[in-house]
Amino acid sequence: MKPTLLLTALLSTAALADDLGYTDTPIIPGTKWHVHDSGRPQPRIVTPGLPSTQEKVGTAPSDAIALFDGTDLSKWKSGNAEAKWKVLNGEAIAGGGDLQTKDEFGPDYQLHLEWTAPVPATGKSQGRGNSGVFLFGRYEIQVLDNYENQTYPDGQATAIYGYMPPQVNSSRKPGEWQTYDIIFEGPRFKEGKLEKPAIVTVLHNGVVTQNHTVLIGGTPHRTVGTYQAHPEKGPIKLQDHGNPVRYRNIWIRPIQMPSPEDVGSGPVIGK
Ligand code: MG
Repeated sequence: MKPTLLLTALLSTAALADDLGYTDTPIIPGTKWHVHDSGRPQPRIVTPGLPSTQEKVGTAPSDAIALFDGTDLSKWKSGNAEAKWKVLNGEAIAGGGDLQTKDEFGPDYQLHLEWTAPVPATGKSQGRGNSGVFLFGRYEIQVLDNYENQTYPDGQATAIYGYMPPQVNSSRKPGEWQTYDIIFEGPRFKEGKLEKPAIVTVLHNGVVTQNHTVLIGGTPHRTVGTYQAHPEKGPIKLQDHGNPVRYRNIWIRPIQMPSPEDVGSGPVIGK
């Protein structure tokens, strides 16, 4: 390359680096940002994990908190005692009572876990491969072997138990690994009263089964759930329902709601 061409190339690279966006564009209403504003903070870099396959367990994103990576259950407890579930071949097997994290999380997070139902499948309806993921220890996303096994719809896999059935049944066969990806916005309480309900989105084996579903309250058996005020952090609980459901690759990432400064005045409705 001729020196002059090289200089031109260097100058244009520098110009790009200094001018990633625009400042002669309109302000996004209610914010301080221009459309395509290069001064807006760059998103934090996260290295994504590798997805699991049936044969091989994947890895967590670089900023996730590993709750169970196959090694041990040191992040978990059974009541106030050490975790009672057995760990075998990198898998945690339900048995000996519910399991709950020692740490508390919230108010908003992304939770990933993988589970597989016992083989051969025994029992029917709620008696087959039953477990559950309790967010804040009280909002159950149902875990159930729903492969060729019907039950009441609000008790199916990824149902918000006792309230909202999944949009579809995307269950895999017992013995095959299934993934849950849960995006949970915890409820907010003010002076003991509900200010904002909990909201959840769930992907079951990559298929959306709950889409920004607003929870009616807690998830009790045979009665309508209601909200009881609680702190903005709580444990994750895994249910032992008497079936040796196995878990692997459990991780969590705290997430933020968009800031009011970034949302601005938002869209104009009805125009
Ligand atoms: Mg359950």
